[in-house]
Amino acid sequence: MNDLRKIVADLHAELVRYNLVVWTAGNVSGRVPGEDLFVIKPSGVSYDELTPENMVVCDLDGNLVEGEHSPSSDTAAHAYVYRNMPDVGGVVHTHSTYASAWAARGEAIPCVLTAMADEFGGEIPVGPFALIGDDSIGQGIVQTLKGHRSKAVLMQNHGVFSIGKDAKAAVKAAVMCEDVARTVHVARQLGDPLPIAQDDIDRLYDRYQNVYGQRSPR
Ligand SMILES: [Zn+2]
Repeated sequence: MNDLRKIVADLHAELVRYNLVVWTAGNVSGRVPGEDLFVIKPSGVSYDELTPENMVVCDLDGNLVEGEHSPSSDTAAHAYVYRNMPDVGGVVHTHSTYASAWAARGEAIPCVLTAMADEFGGEIPVGPFALIGDDSIGQGIVQTLKGHRSKAVLMQNHGVFSIGKDAKAAVKAAVMCEDVARTVHVARQLGDPLPIAQDDIDRLYDRYQNVYGQRSPR
């Protein structure tokens, strides 16, 4: 548990490093292996004040189990994902600029880069418009990502939620999502990006997720 507190606290620095967040609007969580608990960012604490000790622990209903601060205001969405997607070990939320611009238009990012085929296996989909306060955001994330190759969803008019086998993988998906959102946006400025044939997307995804993964564990 203490290791995971440190991992989750430290991963928030990656959100800052890759310019995915401003102020306190973004969060990382990680499932506690073998327990119905997860570690998440405390609400309203700035990124440079995050420590393993001030991370909070919640159960899968989003109730505070351990910690002096209240959990992130996005905790209900994280909890809903953990309850409904047992293979997910990490969840990240950001309002990163380019990805959120696609979300603002309600437009999926088309798979026009091999890096997208590798990481996301196709387009990055759009999830429904949902307000904070109940399970609506969590439901939208799960409905969109369950059975989808993509590890990231653009919640309409809002921002990005990404998932992974652990917190680090979810952060990687958030970083990659912003990167491809920016590149495809730039490509759009000068013309129509060329699609990649589905067969090739499948081949790239399969190689990256299997062959590549075994050689160099991520
Ligand atoms: Zn948000």
